[in-house]
Amino acid sequence: MLKEIQIWDCPFCGKNTVQILYFPKTARPEKTSWGGSRAWMKVSREQIVVQSGCSNCGKNVEEIEKELKK
Ligand SMILES: [Zn+2]
Repeated sequence: MLKEIQIWDCPFCGKNTVQILYFPKTARPEKTSWGGSRAWMKVSREQIVVQSGCSNCGKNVEEIEKELKK
């Protein structure tokens, strides 16, 4: 799966300190279990995984992830 490390702004203090593992939205053909020649495109939603807390305001991974996903 494609993924990349990005640095995002902390949702609490706005400093560019939070390391995020970012999985972009992907579409790929998926074989169906019920046969047929037609492949469905399976589209996954983009996802983020917070990798680090904020070194500026001291918020931890859980707090930042909760704030980003609400
Ligand atoms: Zn912060």
